[in-house]
Amino acid sequence: MKAIQLTGIGEPLRLMELPVPQVGPDDVLVKIKAAGICHSDAHYRAGVSPPAALPVTLGHEMAGVAESTGKNVKHIVPGDRVCIHYLAFCGACHFCSMGREQFCATVQMMGKHRDGGYAEWALVPARSVFVLPAEISFEAAAIMMCSSATSLHALNKARLQPGETVAIFGFGGLGFSALQLARALGAGDVYAVDINPAKLKTAADFGAIPIDARQGDPVQQIRQMTKGRGADVALELIGLPETMDAAVRCLAIFGRAALVGLTQKSFEVVPYQNLINKEAEVVGISDHLASELPLLLEMARDGQLRFPPGAIRTIPLEAAAINETLDALEHGSDQIRTVIGM
Ligand SMILES: [Zn+2]
Ligand SMILES: [Zn+2]
Repeated sequence: MKAIQLTGIGEPLRLMELPVPQVGPDDVLVKIKAAGICHSDAHYRAGVSPPAALPVTLGHEMAGVAESTGKNVKHIVPGDRVCIHYLAFCGACHFCSMGREQFCATVQMMGKHRDGGYAEWALVPARSVFVLPAEISFEAAAIMMCSSATSLHALNKARLQPGETVAIFGFGGLGFSALQLARALGAGDVYAVDINPAKLKTAADFGAIPIDARQGDPVQQIRQMTKGRGADVALELIGLPETMDAAVRCLAIFGRAALVGLTQKSFEVVPYQNLINKEAEVVGISDHLASELPLLLEMARDGQLRFPPGAIRTIPLEAAAINETLDALEHGSDQIRTVIGM
């Protein structure tokens, strides 16, 4: 089969010819129909967070059709449309038994620690395979398996309650899902903070109140619009100390700031003013949970989470096109999500 692999850190991905994987008793062999290209893939290629062993087939955002299943697999049958939770986990260790498999003792990220979806077929442990409703396209499903799922996990970890005010810092791929999911979960006003006019317009089109951070401190703007109250839930989706600081400062009494964006840099918190005197909380967000995917799929099935035409670009399973997309991601713009379509 054709597979596009990372064979050396800092090098372009290469087309390789590999055998179609053999199905074990607990596996599903998936004919890949869509594989999303993610900012993380650019980090793997560049060596910012390198895979442990090379070569590896990248691609952790996968959707396709189950082609064959192992003898122990009951919930998937050949021919099912499926989408894939990107973590392979043991199902039995301390964290797996708590349903917190992102901290599984032997967790593996597909498309990083083991072969992923930039290939014609992928071998996936059955517990990471979910039936994909007919209403959801393979392309949308692929994207949902990363950015939408993580957005939902952030809202869950922040314990969003109906009627609460949400502030989203950074309106890229994650923010686009976070806005729709927050509304689906019954949020009150949702503020979308960005500096990019096109992103602010999209946010407004999808029902957010746009906050242009070029027009002055976004925290001041949010306070003004909430009559001094602030936001109950703030999501930081960029990974910048400045926006982390703003996400914490904009909180209302009992507010929760969920930090999703990655950075090695630190930011300052004034304990009394920012946390103690409000009983506010700062929560770290890592990946998402298999148990969250059924609700996510349900919200997409009934149209509460949607990706309009033009929000997703499709490219072929070709090394040059994939490398170009990774180059573009390295240089910043994720306005349109790219998916390998097969
Ligand atoms: Zn991703
Ligand atoms: Zn485990």
